[in-house]
This record gives sequence, structure tokens and C-alpha cells, in this order.
Amino acid sequence: MTAQIIDGKAFAARLRSRIAAEVATLAGQGITPGLAVVLVGEDPASQVYVRSKGRMTREVGMASFEHRLSQQVSQQELLELIQKLNEDPAVHGILVQLPLPAHMDEAAVINAITPDKDVDGFHILNVGRLATGQRAMVPCTPLGCLMLLRDHLGSLAGRNAVVIGRSNIVGKPMAQLLLRDSATVTIAHSRTEDLPELCRRADILVAAVGRPSFVQGDWIKPGATVIDVGINRTEDGLVGDVDHAGASQVAGAFTPVPGGVGPMTIACLLANTLTATARIHGLPDPEGLTP
Ligand code: NAD
Repeated sequence: MTAQIIDGKAFAARLRSRIAAEVATLAGQGITPGLAVVLVGEDPASQVYVRSKGRMTREVGMASFEHRLSQQVSQQELLELIQKLNEDPAVHGILVQLPLPAHMDEAAVINAITPDKDVDGFHILNVGRLATGQRAMVPCTPLGCLMLLRDHLGSLAGRNAVVIGRSNIVGKPMAQLLLRDSATVTIAHSRTEDLPELCRRADILVAAVGRPSFVQGDWIKPGATVIDVGINRTEDGLVGDVDHAGASQVAGAFTPVPGGVGPMTIACLLANTLTATARIHGLPDPEGLTP
């Protein structure tokens, strides 16, 4: 069997055009969605992410506000900036690029963002809303994975899903979203016993580990749908968490790296900014952009 490739890049491009069309409609009502991105320090990878987020925000017709602060800035100064952005009516989404410098309390900074503008979905209120099935802002990477899964499989109800990784950014919210779609969900992590055997039971396998080519072909159930969230920089270039040569022999479908989940993350950030804008202005949620 040769697995189908789930083209996240093409899906994300279609999503961005849809968002651009909705932004144009909002412009007719005098509303321009605005996304503020705050970068603290000079981490090269974060700088690349922030630049591409700004470019794609402008490409869909939204306003992009970039705030670059030095590595030495105090937490108090950062909190004051967040407060200004919370109150700024031109800003509908606020994203603080992680990781933050060691002298800052990440949770305190994230929880200072007003939950309605928390387009990363990391605020404790949004985490709780997602867990209890209330209207939340949902973290971008798992939201993108969910969109790809629904597009490829239709209903996820009753399917066995295994999520490898329990981070607050990917693993846990991914599991919540799968559960919300009535999949039977198992979360695996670094202390899980006999991971290959567990994975072999998965109709849906999501790998969010951060180890190059970690998931082997013989861990995959024949015909399973495999979502590779991993982004690992190696001497051979960008590599996912799944051994793609192995997966392509066994899986029914899988997301490549690059060109799978990565492009969906930024597209979902724009989707969340659009959703936040609609909610702030008392408009209905744009269709298909929320779980
Ligand atoms: P993390 O380091 O916070 O979490 C990794 C998880 O993997 C942990 O929960 C840990 O328990 C688990 N793990 C580690 N070793 C394991 C093992 N041997 N067996 C089973 N589980 C193990 O990472 P994260 O932030 O969740 O990111 C995971 C990966 O996804 C990284 O490669 C990251 O770069 C990538 N990522 C990609 C996107 C994207 O847009 N595509 C977004 C976020 C993260």
C-alpha cells in the first residue's frame, strides 16, 4: 500500500483565501481585523515565525502590529504592553511568541491577555472552555490538525485516536478536540509503556514529540491516518516525528513535513483572529473555522 499524502500546504492556501474573502466583507462594514504579535528577545527561529506571521496577516488583508522587545525587558513592561493591546480597539488578536526569556513567568504573561483576544488559545479560561465544551479560542496547531482529519475522514466518532505528546500547546488540546469529536482518545508520553503496541491500535495517530523520525512504520496500523506535528531541524533538513518512508508503506494517509501541519498553524492563527474579530463585534462565528 502506498499512503495518500495529506496536502496541508494546499489546504492552508484555500483556507487563507477564504479568510481573505471574509476580511474583504468585513472591510465593507468598516472593520479591519488586527493581529498584534509580541516578540521578546532575538531567538532566530522565533524571528522567522514572527516575520512570516506578519507577512501572511497582511496578505489576507488584516492589520499586522509587531512589537519587538529586548531580551532584558522586565515582565512589568511586557504586561503593560499587553494591557495597552487589550484596550486597543484596532487589535482583535494578541500573540506573545514563546518561549519567553527565563526571568519571565510564562503563565502570568499569557493569562494577562484578555481571553477574547487570546488567538493562541493558551489562556487558562480558553483551556477550561475547550475542556468543558464551551465556546473557546482553540490552539492553532491542534485546530489545524483537526481540520485536516475531518477533511480526510469525515466523522471521527468512535475511531481510536492515539496522541503522542502531552504538551499544553499541542498534545493536550489535540486530545480534547478529538474527544469533542467523539473519538476514543489515548494520550501517550515519555513514560508510556510499549508505545509501538499502543500505536498499532490507532486509526488516527498524532505525533507531537519533537524527535526526528521517531514513529516507525511497523508501529502504524495498516490504513491509519497519521498526523505528523513534529518539526525537527536535522543535517538532512526539516524532518517530522514520523519515519515517512516507513509510514508511506503502511498508513492510509499521512501529513508530510514540510507541507503538512506547519502551514495549517499560521492559517489557523488567521482563522482565530477572524473569529475573535467577529465575536468582539457581536457577529456570528465565521463558518467552519471553529470546532
Ligand atoms: P514538548 O517538548 O512540549 O512535548 C513533547 C512531548 O513528547 C512531551 O509531552 C513528552 O512526554 C513526549 N515525549 C518525549 N519523548 C517521548 C518518548 N520517548 N515517547 C513518548 N512520548 C515522548 O513539544 P511540543 O511543543 O508539544 O512540540 C512537539 C513537536 O511538534 C516539536 O517537534 C515541535 O517543534 C512541533 N510543533 C510543530 C508545530 C507546527 O506548527 N507544526 C507547532 C508546535 C509544535
